[in-house]
Amino acid sequence: MKEEIFVSITPKSPIYLGEIKPNTSFLSSKNYLPGGLLLGALGEYLVRSKREGEIREITKKIRFGNFFPSRGETLWAIPFPVTSLECKREPGFKPKSHGIFDSLLVSLAYEELKNIGAKFPVPLDFKCRYSDSNSNCNGRMDRALGFFIKEKNYEKVSLTRISQTKVAINRRRNTAEKEMLYSVTALAPKGVFVGRVWAANGEVELIKEAIEAIGIGGLTGRGYGKVELKESEVRVEPIEKRVKEFNEILRRVWKDLTSISVNSGFPNEPQGFYFSLDLLSPAILRDQNGLPTLKPNLNWIGTKPELVFISNSSTFISGWSTAWGLYKETYMGTSMGSVYVFRVDSEKDISYEELERIELEGIGERTNEGFGEVLICHPFHKEVEQV
Ligand SMILES: [Zn+2]
Repeated sequence: MKEEIFVSITPKSPIYLGEIKPNTSFLSSKNYLPGGLLLGALGEYLVRSKREGEIREITKKIRFGNFFPSRGETLWAIPFPVTSLECKREPGFKPKSHGIFDSLLVSLAYEELKNIGAKFPVPLDFKCRYSDSNSNCNGRMDRALGFFIKEKNYEKVSLTRISQTKVAINRRRNTAEKEMLYSVTALAPKGVFVGRVWAANGEVELIKEAIEAIGIGGLTGRGYGKVELKESEVRVEPIEKRVKEFNEILRRVWKDLTSISVNSGFPNEPQGFYFSLDLLSPAILRDQNGLPTLKPNLNWIGTKPELVFISNSSTFISGWSTAWGLYKETYMGTSMGSVYVFRVDSEKDISYEELERIELEGIGERTNEGFGEVLICHPFHKEVEQV
């Protein structure tokens, strides 16, 4: 039986995550540690310890989530949902900047009310509402990117990259040639990465052994990717509480919107119970016919909730094969931060165990490498005012 375990990864040397974007020779670096890197290291460790025969059985028992940059072992940083917005002119959290908020619940109530015939004086438009004694900002908003943590206050977290110029040695002549200089951009050994692993009790010890022995990412043979791994205590609100709060705030927003609609006669409460499914990593989704899609196709045991709202975009996905030091084929996928909202008639039609199972299993393909990692009712959706 798998259970959710939080793990922190502290880099002891730069981590090389370089990836080659399709159709260009441009080298970029991811800004988090995808679970696939850990799975790859575990596989390599088993091969090196002459346990190839156990790879299939062991990796079936473990699902790796993704590890996001944080500044403390017990602080889980998560990506902003695509619906969160910040001021274009003064991006960032208050009080240093103009604040960040999430537009999902307002957009959801607006769309649902429009569906039942409500009309509004102006189309939905989000402007920066920051004001001080001198002026109101009223500026344009942009999608908030990256990761945040909440200790006492919200804080954005990011990572530091370092570039090192390497000299390729011509093995035959054993000389360094000028045209053989190349540069490696890697994550600096700073801060800590925190994320989830779903494993049976006791498997974390094996993961720790493997990852610390092999290292993660590319160029491990040249000293890159040395890390320390630890089990970590992270406090996360239970799903039921998150879903209930999501609906409470939706009710408040709904009421505010009905009061500004130009026509009347609409229920001043949502006619159903809602929850969101938020992607913490890219997902590889397929429809019933096996064709790529951007919509999740969930296996519900009970009543099937209705998908009523989508905010997402597509992305290229490639895999990393540690054994070969190569990228695997590229897929089209749904990007990190994508948001899906589902509706059921009332709270009793929702099974919280079912939602827990979805978080445990993830959605789509290659979930054991960190793809399709989800969070039900991302806590940032509660921030309907700029924070
Ligand atoms: Zn502003």
